[in-house]
Amino acid sequence: MLEPTKIVKEAVLKRTHGSSVGQAGKPSISQAAQRAAGASGASGANPTKTGSTSESRSQTEIRRAASDPSTPSNNKIGGLLKGLQIWGFDEATLSELAEREQAAENQALEDLDKYGDLFDNPRGGGRDGIISTNDLKAFSEGNFNRDAARNQLVNLGVAEADLDTTLDRLTESASYLLKNEDVLDRLDVANDRSNRTDGRISRGDISREVFQRQLEQARNGELPPGPPADNRGGYAPTVITRNSERTPEVIAQQELAILEAVNSGKPVSFTNANGHTEELTVRQIQNTGGNAVYEITGADGHTMRIESELGASENRTALARLADYYTQFPEHLRDSVNKIEFRREPDDTAAAAFYSSGDRIVFYNGLRNLNEEVFDHEFAHGIGYENDGLGEDVLGYIGRIFTGSAGEGTPKGWTEAIAADPEPRISDYANTNIKEDFAECWAAYMEARDNGPEALAKLEEAYPARYAIMDELYHGA
Ligand SMILES: [Zn+2]
Repeated sequence: MLEPTKIVKEAVLKRTHGSSVGQAGKPSISQAAQRAAGASGASGANPTKTGSTSESRSQTEIRRAASDPSTPSNNKIGGLLKGLQIWGFDEATLSELAEREQAAENQALEDLDKYGDLFDNPRGGGRDGIISTNDLKAFSEGNFNRDAARNQLVNLGVAEADLDTTLDRLTESASYLLKNEDVLDRLDVANDRSNRTDGRISRGDISREVFQRQLEQARNGELPPGPPADNRGGYAPTVITRNSERTPEVIAQQELAILEAVNSGKPVSFTNANGHTEELTVRQIQNTGGNAVYEITGADGHTMRIESELGASENRTALARLADYYTQFPEHLRDSVNKIEFRREPDDTAAAAFYSSGDRIVFYNGLRNLNEEVFDHEFAHGIGYENDGLGEDVLGYIGRIFTGSAGEGTPKGWTEAIAADPEPRISDYANTNIKEDFAECWAAYMEARDNGPEALAKLEEAYPARYAIMDELYHGA
């Protein structure tokens, strides 16, 4: 079949994820919920008991008031507390109850977001990005594939010893959501233009709702920054060893900018790790009917689309990293990539892949492979195809057949430049083929740019011919 599609697969990079997983652990909100639950002798202390007959009267009252759709949610607890005051509850007890109720809601939302994969068709049948009330009901009744759920939790970074308690809490969270229709309804319509409740909560809905909550937390400095990316740092034989990953302070600042941008729909000033500030628009697309979809537009006007199977907190981290890396590319090269996808499942052979059909990059295994080096490498494949002198249409495809693979997906003259340069390949992976050689060299070039003139000089000394091509591409000569 005549199909102008090229698939470039990447080798899985060997790396450890221990620290990232640890840092991606529970944010403060869930700790507050656990504290609230632990401090009381009421149903919250035992995750399996809420909803049973042991539920205290006051909590039932709070639930009833909280699910009254006629009052906005902020007033519900206030009005309810007044009622309970008449019943003779003292103020300290009442504020503790209100706090505990808020903590329970936060915990349920956090669970829905972070472990949404488990609620999405829990009896099997594949993920569709939609969590229906039937999905929640099945989960709350323990009607799900427990082995599959445990495997999903392991892939989400939950320790073996915590699997059962986590599953118990998720069952509890599903029950909570089913009992609190106002929370469910708010989620249901969060990312829908129609404002019509249909009992189907999409991952996009959850992301929008959580982003709204996180903006307030981030403004108050109460949102823990996402985990740092896992750069390897350094390409032999050039001596560039500094890991250029951002500090937690920079990550927090960038994630706040992302939350401001998505919630306001307006451009924000975004400062990348190299100190370059740019007006960025980051929009969440409505009515996707499933996963969260975003669009990033920078000063050059090109729009990059992001489709994500991940939860809101991961999306926030992903968007900040992408914006950081993307704004380090010169504006004239940015239209080399149109789309970025995040998949939850790992791929046996690839950390990430570039597809020249649609100029898109796919990251596998959640956020684990999203770092500056992998991004720069994949983006380089896009630049290579844009600059190989062969069209991206059917004629270009025929051209590639007649010219063989030499030069395809790399800038013109790359094959000759490899032959001319004195040093061996820049990495083992660069030996795979010339496309990978170019992608590895480009990632090293971008890293050298982060590290300053001395690093660039060393790279130029080792790879003068290839450096000249890359420098010309970068400066748009
Ligand atoms: Zn590659």
